[in-house]
Amino acid sequence: MAPASLELQVSELSVEALFCRTWGHAWDPTGGIDEKNYKRKPALYVEVDCGRCGLEATEIRSAADYKLVRRRYGTYPEDYLLRGVGRLTVETKAVIAGEAISELRNMNKAKARQAAKVAEAEVAAVEERAS
Ligand SMILES: [Zn+2]
Repeated sequence: MAPASLELQVSELSVEALFCRTWGHAWDPTGGIDEKNYKRKPALYVEVDCGRCGLEATEIRSAADYKLVRRRYGTYPEDYLLRGVGRLTVETKAVIAGEAISELRNMNKAKARQAAKVAEAEVAAVEERAS
């Protein structure tokens, strides 16, 4: 079966996946640091995970100057991957960014509605005390 269209697949990505793909992962160290060689040079293996989508990775850094040599990714969350898309082009990234911005706007609208509700309740409480 052919993979679903890009637009359909993008619409099914989690908000976390859309945000990480658009603005980058929110890497945090989990505390794990291992010292061992990478390609015969002393290296630090630093465990990190993304505070947003949950992806885990190992950063391999030079023990001499801490430069990032490479990053090994763990298993991607199920709703993160696009099937049959291959390496992401500027156009594909723009489709993902468009969906991410649409989600962001929905979140902003929901926040504004919530803030309006809180303000209404406060006004009602003040009126109640005044009467
Ligand atoms: Zn992430």
